[in-house]
Amino acid sequence: MFLIDCETHLWPPMDDMAYYPNFKKYVDGMAEYQRSRFLQFSRGPVDLEAPGIKEKYEASVKAVRARAHSSAQADVESLIRSMDEAGVQLSCVIPEGMIDLTHGHRVRSTNGWVAKEIAKYPERLIGVANLGPILKRGVDLAIYELEHLVKEKNFKGCKLYPPDEGPPNCRELWPFYEKVRELGIVLFVHTGISWCPPGLSAPCHPILLEEVCIDFPEIPIVAFHMGYPYSTDLNLLAAKYPNLYVGTSLLPRMAFGYTRKAQELLGEALVLVGDDKLIWGTDWSGSLIGHKDAVEFLKTIQISEAVQQDYHYPPISQTTREKWAGLNLARILKIKVPN
Ligand SMILES: [Zn+2]
Repeated sequence: MFLIDCETHLWPPMDDMAYYPNFKKYVDGMAEYQRSRFLQFSRGPVDLEAPGIKEKYEASVKAVRARAHSSAQADVESLIRSMDEAGVQLSCVIPEGMIDLTHGHRVRSTNGWVAKEIAKYPERLIGVANLGPILKRGVDLAIYELEHLVKEKNFKGCKLYPPDEGPPNCRELWPFYEKVRELGIVLFVHTGISWCPPGLSAPCHPILLEEVCIDFPEIPIVAFHMGYPYSTDLNLLAAKYPNLYVGTSLLPRMAFGYTRKAQELLGEALVLVGDDKLIWGTDWSGSLIGHKDAVEFLKTIQISEAVQQDYHYPPISQTTREKWAGLNLARILKIKVPN
């Protein structure tokens, strides 16, 4: 199976940021999500005593808390190791912005640093720029930087992170989208909830992509995280606009236990959007979930007969899995799939 992860992140240690009040909120908020994801994706209160669940829960909370320490980072060697363990051929690598964590002082990782890291594995890693906050820095600068990264560093996409940026339908971003179109690259957008305090969630609602889809039909737009919890909104929008794709990064992380909820999310996307526009990814960022678990999820998740009957969803076929795993993303990134 040809696997391309649509979303991975690299970042250096963040201990120099750990004393900022917003950083503390971020760690607390993320730890809370590690707990609440079990609530959201289960059919009832989570049984932490169930085999394997308590260990996964405790390990993920510990990993989030460790982000305040100098030893924690998402380095390129760990990423390659994680990909190798699971047989993942390629990953898109995105710098982490989240400039509010330091009250505007520094981003978690710069494009230049990520470009240097991924240059160590040019056959495995694909650069995706994160230019935010574009409007605060100035659209001209973002355009200059994007062009540099695409032409000089071979980046193949860019990511918009609305918690840093504001709503994607802000007209001042139009010159930026024009450059994305001209460069022929993919636009990735964080959609759904903003998982990291203090970033706001309202600008991440997938419905805000509609005007971008209308004015820039040539740009392939991948909405990360299935727009969760606005997944139906995203699916209906993607059904309407051929250039809007549904990225499933985060789903495996959220769906330990292969829950009914995960089956429903995938089933609805398959029916409304179709398997030509489903894009697989992990949101790997050093810990929390390795590629092994995520690939196992991709290869084995099935929509149960009960869910198929309740909603008239189809089962997940091998052809669908292969498109979802990498063939769809290869097509829009213009990457040749090895025979
Ligand atoms: Zn993400």
